Amino acid sequence: MSPHRTPVDPYLPGHGDASYEVQHYDLDLDYALENNILSGRATLQIRALKRLSEVTLDLHHLKVVKVTGPKISKYEHRNGRLRIKLAKELDEGDRASLTVTYRGVPKPVRDEVGDAGWEELTDGVIVAAQPGGAPSWFPCNDRTSDKATYSFKIATNPDYLVVCNGIRTGTRRRAGRVEWTYEQRQPMATYLATVQIGRYVEIPIAADIPMSAAIPPSRRRSYDNAFADQGAMFEFFTRTFGPYPFDVYRVVITDEALEIPLEAQSLSIFGTNFLNRQWDSQRLIAHELSHQWFGNAVTMETLQDIWLHEGFACYSEWLWSQESGGPSTAEKAAHHHAALLRKPQNLVLGSPGIAEVFDDRVYKRGALTVHAVRCRLGDEAFFDLLRAWIAEHNGENVTTADFVAFTQAHTGVAIDDLIDAWVYRTELPELPVTAA
Ligand SMILES: [Zn+2]
Repeated sequence: MSPHRTPVDPYLPGHGDASYEVQHYDLDLDYALENNILSGRATLQIRALKRLSEVTLDLHHLKVVKVTGPKISKYEHRNGRLRIKLAKELDEGDRASLTVTYRGVPKPVRDEVGDAGWEELTDGVIVAAQPGGAPSWFPCNDRTSDKATYSFKIATNPDYLVVCNGIRTGTRRRAGRVEWTYEQRQPMATYLATVQIGRYVEIPIAADIPMSAAIPPSRRRSYDNAFADQGAMFEFFTRTFGPYPFDVYRVVITDEALEIPLEAQSLSIFGTNFLNRQWDSQRLIAHELSHQWFGNAVTMETLQDIWLHEGFACYSEWLWSQESGGPSTAEKAAHHHAALLRKPQNLVLGSPGIAEVFDDRVYKRGALTVHAVRCRLGDEAFFDLLRAWIAEHNGENVTTADFVAFTQAHTGVAIDDLIDAWVYRTELPELPVTAA
């Protein structure tokens, strides 16, 4: 965490409160699949970042039943914002505990890039919260720059598997329900918190850490085929980026097609349409895994620096292409550079605007920026830089300026001009090539 900077995100107006941080979320939930009713009790351990008499949480569509805590006088819930007045002011650094009891039919939060958050599947639930969907299922300080640890307890119908972030610490039957508990011990941004519920079976994946897949039993054969390289991919990325940052990695396959797969902290979620050996599926299996390092462990401070996630994840696809015997990373770079030249050059990578945050050019130009850094530094210094960048900032939030400063300090090579051309200007620079 970066105590000196704690911004709300200009791309997500109406989300987040910069005056305090949450250190831990304890979420105790019950979800009834038959009528899509979520009942929750969320206890937040907060810390004031300045003197304050009120804190604001984000919670959309759900109804607050009560707010309790030793220091609460009253609250008001309107337009997705829960304003809680404190009986006594908190000084900077003071801690307090708030408990919010709530209930309702969860629905995704709509913003400029679409719907995000809790969604019913045909038979289960998916939570895909990037960028602003976390308040669809729990009250939170919804800004990327506020990472916290989490405990989850989720009770639901038997015969379903529930997957959340982190390690599973228990399952037990109680009153006709099954209660699942998970611990996310490493700090996590709100948008990466997730719940997946489905009629899944769990298949172990051989790796150095606990790894498994939750899949519909009828998809076993196509899953085996599509994810045959998951273990090798994991081994390659840990060798290339450094130790895996979390306790577990899980893959969830929903029993229906999804437009895009998505990453959450310590897991990734794929639709049935990715269960094949085609490059467009294999690259995304690599892409989502790489987000555990680039995006989840080391997280942008605000969305305008999304290239620090998607550029590195897209570059990880190109690295995997070469590693798995496909076109080399340099060939991928040349191919996508040529493709970008045919597209409008009106995007500023380092401030794309909320509507273009997930534009394909952010991914490809972001990856080419990473490639340009590699070409300037040379392979040895570049891969050493990647490992050091992750090790140094694991659990934190970062900006493009941090990356530039870290690169200079770690390698002695300035990249300001390169970042200026690739990240802050619209014209596409020439294809970077490795120094001979
Ligand atoms: Zn991505």
